[in-house]
Amino acid sequence: MQLSGKVALVTGAAQGLGKGCAEAILERGAKVALLDTNESAGQETAADFALKYGADRCTFILCDVTAKDQLEGAFQKVVDHFGGLDLVVNNAGILNEVQWEKCIDVNLVSVVRGCHLGLRYMGKQNGGNGGLIINMSSVAGLYAFPSPVYATTKAGVVGLTRSLGMDYKLGRDCVRVNALCPSFTTTAILADPEVPEDQYQHMKDMLERGGGLMQIPDVVKGLAKLLDEDDKNGAVLEVTVQGMKYHGDESGPWDRESG
Ligand code: NAD
Repeated sequence: MQLSGKVALVTGAAQGLGKGCAEAILERGAKVALLDTNESAGQETAADFALKYGADRCTFILCDVTAKDQLEGAFQKVVDHFGGLDLVVNNAGILNEVQWEKCIDVNLVSVVRGCHLGLRYMGKQNGGNGGLIINMSSVAGLYAFPSPVYATTKAGVVGLTRSLGMDYKLGRDCVRVNALCPSFTTTAILADPEVPEDQYQHMKDMLERGGGLMQIPDVVKGLAKLLDEDDKNGAVLEVTVQGMKYHGDESGPWDRESG
């Protein structure tokens, strides 16, 4: 996707992977709205980006993605502020098996809503210009993982992405929908004090077996791949220390040879 002069909205962009993705999008010439509940970190990130890329290319919007009105209002603000919308990155997420309903709300319900809003504002049938949605899933959505509710939300995001990314929809909306599935990456999410000790220990074991932690720029390379590959729709890209690979190209029962 050619991003120069385009407009992007990134949720959970105050820090971590969302911030890394937002910066990569700015580097490619787009304007970016950063949405987050963390006002101080969000304002600080926006101020840094304004210095580096220009004050007219970045704005922070205080928004809890689980609050329907706030998320809808934020999409409208982005369109009012920048005059359009071309790219949505549904990135905000938490890892919390104790407050598991909240985990489902942030990681899955809000991503469904973010996709619906992306289609509402970018879909050609609604007067938009088409565009791209990238949903932040995880390897936890592809493989067994010690945090079952978190894994459920991330598997849900994979299913949502594949199904919204069916080509018959593309003909109508001209909005592609893809997902990124990173492995463990050094960010604040891994330090959540509410991750139970046994889950934490299992994660540490998996990490050691899997080659260790990635850094934010490793995941941003995955985002860049999805931004570059314009033929991808409904694609699910795994990003790990071992490299990147697309998942789920196997055909369903309806496309298999019978007998
Ligand atoms: P992070 O905690 O550094 O960043 C998450 C951001 O989301 C924070 O800025 C936080 O304030 C924001 N946020 C949380 N709840 C929100 C809400 N209700 N509304 C708006 N913003 C909210 O963690 P991260 O690792 O950068 O996580 C980003 C995404 O990447 C998440 O979806 C996470 O599940 C996913 N992910 C992370 C890893 C990893 O190992 N770090 C691996 C795979 C996937």
